[in-house]
Amino acid sequence: MPMDANGNLLFDKRDSKQFAKTGTHEDLHTAGQKHDSKATLASPPDNLMRVGGPGTKMTPEQRTESIKLIEQQQPKTR
Ligand SMILES: [Zn+2]
Repeated sequence: MPMDANGNLLFDKRDSKQFAKTGTHEDLHTAGQKHDSKATLASPPDNLMRVGGPGTKMTPEQRTESIKLIEQQQPKTR
């Protein structure tokens, strides 16, 4: 993605689908999803968490794992 002289990404809204896909992929990394997790390695090639984020799909195992990872990161309230 092109950048200006200050390093800001020059977002072209014609690329909004790609931008959203990349953002989702990176958000899932923040939640703890990995390229080489068991669920990702067992997923089809069009999976969102494959290296380079080639696809848009997540498996039920990845969704369950994401919920678990996010819950583990929540502060304990008691
Ligand atoms: Zn990645």
